[in-house]
This record gives sequence, structure tokens and C-alpha cells, in this order.
Amino acid sequence: MNKLIGILGGTFNPIHYGHLRMAQELVDALNFSEVRFIPSANPPHKAIPDVSAAHRAEMVRLAISDNPMFTLDTRELERAGASYTIDTLISLQEELGKNIRLCLMMGSDAFLKINTWARWQELLDYCHIILVQRPNLADQPKLPEELTALLHDRYTENVDDLTSKTIGYIHMQAITPLDISATKIRESYKNDVSSRYLMPEKVIEYIGSHRLYG
Ligand code: ATP
Repeated sequence: MNKLIGILGGTFNPIHYGHLRMAQELVDALNFSEVRFIPSANPPHKAIPDVSAAHRAEMVRLAISDNPMFTLDTRELERAGASYTIDTLISLQEELGKNIRLCLMMGSDAFLKINTWARWQELLDYCHIILVQRPNLADQPKLPEELTALLHDRYTENVDDLTSKTIGYIHMQAITPLDISATKIRESYKNDVSSRYLMPEKVIEYIGSHRLYG
């Protein structure tokens, strides 16, 4: 009953080993029973991706197909309008019940802007947040005051807190830093530079056969 489920939302344009390794290390460190990869159909805070949501989801499916702990969740693709995380969390809770602990995983870059997300003050009413450090981020803005306050109120170092309470904690987990980003991968295609070993071969083959990045 005290199951912890990792949730990784993202544009996945494309999915890469930064995402996959982070998910695996959090499964191992926090004993998740599953990680759900949830591609965003219409990310509210990014330019509309040139690559369709269907292609981005298919790349996720290929990337995780050999890992029984990882699942693709396409609920944001089936919903019209902007893909708000709060709506996703509410629908996950409705589906899985209130005893499941949803652990929203995110890189430090995403957390720095979380106060711009729709109904962000309500996110912790539906989940715990698990933060991981993203290496070498250029122009890292300072943590806004309201997020400093949120961390002060909700931060825990104690992993057991994530099972003792169903919602409401923020935990930071150390992982192997991998300086891989989808932006850099897309640039490597533009510049005709190989992106082998940054993502699974199956994803590279899919990108090639559909000429997704030119
Ligand atoms: P882009 O470069 O297009 O902005 P991205 O590589 O940041 O994309 P997203 O799909 O936007 O990938 O990321 C989804 C989530 O995964 C975010 O919370 C992000 O912080 C996290 N993430 C992405 N890459 C890494 C990485 N290398 N290490 C740890 N977390 C990562």
C-alpha cells in the first residue's frame, strides 16, 4: 500500500540518457515500484516543439521498452489544451488512489521555474517532489524567495518521510551528474555531429528513419 511511484514529465524532444539514468538512480535510491514517463503534449513554458507529441512519445516507448520498472503514460497526449502538471497529478491520484505516493521527479532547472506553473502552490497537495541537480546549467537564476520559503517549509533529507506521509515533502537526491540535454542533441543534428551514446540506439534509429531533426 505504501508504494512510491516516480513521475517524470518532460518534453522528451528527444528522451536521452540524462532522463533514463536519473530515473534508474531514483528507483534504486528511493525504492520506487514504477516510474511513469509522461510526455507533455503542449508544454506551457516552452515553444511548441517541431516534433509531434506522437513522435516524442514513441521515442520514450522505444527507450524504456527493455525496463520493466519504466512505463509510458500518454494521458497528456489525450487531453486537449496546455499540459498542466497539476491536472496530471489529479488524474493520476484519481486513477491510483490516495494511498499511492506520487513522487514528481525534476531537475534543478525545472524547479527554479516551478512558481510559474499553473496552480503551483497546490502541487504538493498531490505528490512529493524529488529534486536532482542538473550539472553545468548556464545562467542559473537565483532561487525566487517564494521557492526558498517552500524549501524551508517542505524540505526533508529523510527518505522515510516519503513513505510515512503520502504527500507534501521535497527531497533532493544526489545522482551521477550527466551533462546531457535535448537542446544539445538537437543542435548536434543541426551541426551534423554524432549524438551516439547520449541516448539509446533505438531512439537514434527512430530519429534517423523519420528525419526528426533535419
Ligand atoms: P530541453 O533541452 O529541450 O529543454 P531537457 O533535456 O531539459 O530538454 P526535458 O524533457 O525538458 O529535457 O526534461 C524533463 C525533466 O528531466 C526535467 O525535470 C529536467 O530537469 C530533467 N532532466 C533533463 N535532463 C536531465 C539530466 N541530464 N540530468 C537530470 N535531469 C534531467
